[in-house]
Amino acid sequence: MGFRLPGPLLICDDGKYRNEASVGLHGFLTRDGIHPAELRRIGREQLDRYEVEYRQARVSDARLVNAHFELALEGGERLRCRKLLLATGVIDHIPEIEGIDRFYGCSVFHCPYCDGWEMRDQPLAVYGRGKNGAGLALSLKTWSDDVVLCTDGPAGLKAGEAAQLRTHRIAVREEKVARLEGAGEILEQIVFRGGASLPRRAMFLSTGQSQRCDLASRLGCAFTRNGAVQTGKLETTAVPGLYVAGDASKDVQLAVVAAAEGAKAAIAINASLQQQRDGT
Ligand SMILES: Cc1cc2nc3c(=O)[nH]c(=O)nc-3n(C[C@H](O)[C@H](O)[C@H](O)COP(=O)(O)OP(=O)(O)OC[C@H]3O[C@@H](n4cnc5c(N)ncnc54)[C@H](O)[C@@H]3O)c2cc1C
Repeated sequence: MGFRLPGPLLICDDGKYRNEASVGLHGFLTRDGIHPAELRRIGREQLDRYEVEYRQARVSDARLVNAHFELALEGGERLRCRKLLLATGVIDHIPEIEGIDRFYGCSVFHCPYCDGWEMRDQPLAVYGRGKNGAGLALSLKTWSDDVVLCTDGPAGLKAGEAAQLRTHRIAVREEKVARLEGAGEILEQIVFRGGASLPRRAMFLSTGQSQRCDLASRLGCAFTRNGAVQTGKLETTAVPGLYVAGDASKDVQLAVVAAAEGAKAAIAINASLQQQRDGT
């Protein structure tokens, strides 16, 4: 089967969004509290005005061949393009705790900058271990005085980290977590395996993430120690013609930042196409 050259711009989206469980997006001025699905709906509606083809499709493979990208879509179709922008996001590692699905997105979160304000002055838990768990617990002290670090097993803290937590009156609970309980989607308590419980209104996870797809890796991108794609100032990568924006790249993970990175990449892509056209 031959390759098809798409129109000026094609978006392939397989419809698996990181913030699917969120009920309201914060930190995006002018859109504060909007449901993520509504933000996407508005985005697509506005794209209709421009020459953009939008397709619900998964890209299963990408290769750089003679300065063009050859893409394979699930289902067999193959496409060719000159520039490729990956905004393919990440998958969060959600711990297997009984009840967590019910609370995820309403009482269980990842990011204090997204959901810390709404949970201000509430009893909060951080679920995580080691340096990252301690770091998240300390950062939540900006919003609440009552923060407990639940490590679901050995805390893995260095002496300095444990001392810092003590200084900020953050208790560490190493008991294994049995389940989360609450009313509807509102968390009320964390129950430990021994039977003890800890009343909490929200829990923030520090449990890691990975790239949602392997296209950046297949194309030969360089990655940070945390698994994000190494990008330059305008979202360029080590691969000519390939740009990576949003959570998949190495910067701060916020929707407004993802949008800004997309805009930066778009300018870089356009400038590069102009240079190619003019032979400069
Ligand atoms: C529970 C929760 C709450 C959050 N709350 C906030 C908040 O309040 N404010 C905020 O700013 N941020 C929030 N975030 C973070 C925010 O969701 C991300 O920063 C943002 O979604 C990043 O956008 P993105 O485009 O990089 O990734 P995503 O939104 O995850 O989009 C990735 C897209 O790529 C597609 N894709 C992936 N691989 C392929 C492939 N091979 N082929 C085709 N398509 C593919 C996916 O289907 C998806 O459409 C929250 C995250 C979570 C988990």
